[in-house]
Amino acid sequence: MSVESLKAHSVKAAWLQYDAVDAGPTGLNAFLSVDREGSLTAAASIAATPHTTASLTADLAGVPVAIKDNLATLTLPTTCGSRILEGYVSPYEATAVRKLREAGAIVIGKTNMDEFAMGSSTENSAYGPTRNPVDRSRVPGGSSGGSAAAVASGVVRLALGSETGGSVRQPAAFCGIVGVKPTYGRVSRFGLVAYASSLDHVGVFAQNVFDAALGVELIAGHDPYDATCSERPVPALRQSAVVTDHAQPLAGLVVGRPVEYFTDALDPRIHAHCDASLERLRALGAVVRDVSLPHTSLAIPVYYVLAPAEASSNLARYDGVRYGQRRSADGLREMYERTRTGGFGAEVTRRILLGTYVLSAGYYDAYYRRAQTVRELITQDFERVFADGVHVLFTPTAPTPAFRIGEVSDPYDMYLSDIYTVTANLAGIPAMSQPIGLVDGLPVGGQFMAARFDEATMFKAAAALEYALTAEGGA
Ligand code: GLN
Repeated sequence: MSVESLKAHSVKAAWLQYDAVDAGPTGLNAFLSVDREGSLTAAASIAATPHTTASLTADLAGVPVAIKDNLATLTLPTTCGSRILEGYVSPYEATAVRKLREAGAIVIGKTNMDEFAMGSSTENSAYGPTRNPVDRSRVPGGSSGGSAAAVASGVVRLALGSETGGSVRQPAAFCGIVGVKPTYGRVSRFGLVAYASSLDHVGVFAQNVFDAALGVELIAGHDPYDATCSERPVPALRQSAVVTDHAQPLAGLVVGRPVEYFTDALDPRIHAHCDASLERLRALGAVVRDVSLPHTSLAIPVYYVLAPAEASSNLARYDGVRYGQRRSADGLREMYERTRTGGFGAEVTRRILLGTYVLSAGYYDAYYRRAQTVRELITQDFERVFADGVHVLFTPTAPTPAFRIGEVSDPYDMYLSDIYTVTANLAGIPAMSQPIGLVDGLPVGGQFMAARFDEATMFKAAAALEYALTAEGGA
């Protein structure tokens, strides 16, 4: 695999595919805003440049990309799938978006998402749900469902999403593509609209492991505009995704199988696909070892205390004065009330209430502080396993395949679809999902996780598994 295959997809081809799939009552509704004219002009100007210039040899010269609507862009709106930011255009650009553009990519549009990235199905968008390209009666996952659908349907081959608890990996699994959440601090969060800042990450969707690794490599690196962004040099991640030894590419690699991820909550057919993948990893030279991450069952409760707590504080800025929509009223207090009540959807309101409650005097110690303590225990579980000689962990990405639109109505049931993904956000470690098989025609995702800043080993394992599955025609 090389950058050339990514470059083979043109902006023109993107629009042809977009016109075929996105609009209409059964269309994907993957995009919230598009820039057809601007992107075609940018593509034409690249095509007209002499072949030797840097703009043409750049890694992503002329490559169409899609951006989740919570990453700030200069010309297109950034609505976060919310009414409260309808029509809002940011005065600055997210660092990850700027880096993609500087590598030659052309942004064709902003993608649909659960409002403020709260959800696992993209049904919480104020602009209607996105459909799964594999089966349009089903959800694409979420919250970055629009980006996942845009890549899975072939409109683009590379898209940015965001992750707070699985919002790239779970939709990647549901749509049958690759989705990566890098290490916390690997990619700048500047220009990513904050949901829960200590858990938020920018992530990448692609159709294969090489393209995903390339995407992460291009957006990674220090940024003075994000104090949590690491100064560590970024390795040539695309190199780690190239399989050179086709017999035993994973010789010497120790793969951990966390027993807590293979329980009754897991669809047995997904379990079987994971077992088959572990078998393939063995055949590729890896040693597979059962490991324990004993605090795993606490991850969902901890996440659903911490994420709403941070959200309730981050979303206080949408007050009708500084950003987006304002609903007028007689007094200031009434204006706040009307703006926020009318601007936020049900799930965002639920999270703000929940977050305000767990942070309030008298409950802070019982909920927020305790959740922070358990978060540390979850992080230590991972650290212990990686210090013990395990290089990567392999698990399912989600407990079920994509569900039908409207099928999961209880918010708590929806929260459970993140059961295998929130852990990596809590610990800040890199994690990714890739297709490993089908259940009744629906894609199944397998997840790799690695130690902090060791994306290279994660991509190496993922590329080898992808190679084996493709060679066998299995995925
Ligand atoms: N589904 C989870 C939530 O609703 C995770 C979302 C995300 O990663 N942004 O919070």
